[in-house]
Amino acid sequence: MSDVSAPAIELQDVHLSLGRGAARVHILKGVSLSLAAGEATGLVGPSGSGKSTLLMTMAGLERPDSGLVKVAGQDLGLLGEDDLAIFRGRRIGIVFQSFHLVPTMTARENVALPLELAGADDAFSRAEAELRNVGLGDRMDHYPAQLSGGEQQRVAIARAVAPDPAILVADEPTGNLDETTGRSIVDLIFALRRERGATLVLVTHDLSLAAVCDRTVRLHAGRIEADADLVSA
Ligand code: ADP
Ligand code: MG
Repeated sequence: MSDVSAPAIELQDVHLSLGRGAARVHILKGVSLSLAAGEATGLVGPSGSGKSTLLMTMAGLERPDSGLVKVAGQDLGLLGEDDLAIFRGRRIGIVFQSFHLVPTMTARENVALPLELAGADDAFSRAEAELRNVGLGDRMDHYPAQLSGGEQQRVAIARAVAPDPAILVADEPTGNLDETTGRSIVDLIFALRRERGATLVLVTHDLSLAAVCDRTVRLHAGRIEADADLVSA
């Protein structure tokens, strides 16, 4: 039985280092955090404070040196690499600043990919519905290089939400876009999140963007500096 009151994301005293030898950097220095299901959290902080690393840890793409990471009730530390990849594919949607689409695949194929990996037999028709839903019904057969930045990010968002993940994480999703396009991407992310009730974690430099979240978490040098339900100017 699933516990609906359990936090969607829970971190306890997470430490994480990356790099080897002299280049090894202790990035996350004891991060504890609990995010409720359906909550939208803005993750802010100076460049190099560990925002991307924290997001990748929540998404199961980085494993901590120590500490607990639980997503949708699952302790990620208990999963082997294969099971973690399956869990990620089904439960966690990830949107990157630089889109990360597969360049040799069309928009339709990019969005269908996680559905095929999850074993869906209607991956292509679902991918088409997702692309129409993000306003790209007329771009299904385009390759990433034939799409504008904003269109590529729409494809990436369609891909992230297609498996209907419980958790959606986005790392500066508007960072490579002009202001107007960025705003439409943010509107799209929030609309999809409302539509599907996903828990959202959004890394952003933009405080006005953080302000539309339910909660703001501020990182500084690998530690949580402030955690507020409302952003004050
Ligand atoms: P942010 O997203 O807040 O800008 P990051 O999480 O990307 O911060 O990085 C935090 C710190 O960790 C930075 O000082 C960065 O240089 C360092 N870092 C990130 N990735 C690696 C890596 N693979 N190896 C060594 N250091 C890294
Ligand atoms: Mg970053």
